[in-house]
Amino acid sequence: MQGADAVVAAYETALGRQLAAGSAARLRKQAVELLGAGRPVDWLCERAAEMPALGYQDLIRHADHPRHRLPGQTGSDRARPERDASMCWKPGHGSGAYPADDCSQCLAESRPRREGPAKINPADLVAQLRAGRAAVEARG
Ligand SMILES: [Zn+2]
Repeated sequence: MQGADAVVAAYETALGRQLAAGSAARLRKQAVELLGAGRPVDWLCERAAEMPALGYQDLIRHADHPRHRLPGQTGSDRARPERDASMCWKPGHGSGAYPADDCSQCLAESRPRREGPAKINPADLVAQLRAGRAAVEARG
């Protein structure tokens, strides 16, 4: 199938060298399968060209990844998953990995407020360090 050869060529172009015969045959076989399943050849070439940079070798797995929409798919049919309100969705808080009432990031953020200002006063600390060094210098 000519389309499959184009897909292999797209991969090799992105790779910057020719594939070993066995790898090329495997990729070509996957391309034939995907073309047979109705994937457009241009679209498959694009997917194949992405693979070397990603370190992927399996065209079927890469092409079937939900991230890739086939031409004509608007994405509206792929409703965004409902965010679980019981999880914390604040930016940088693990993208919903932590429960809202037990989020380590939220705890970390609320800690200074809850415990009041830091007990160590930076000015005092500097003064102590200076005094300590002065004492050492006086001794030496
Ligand atoms: Zn949080």
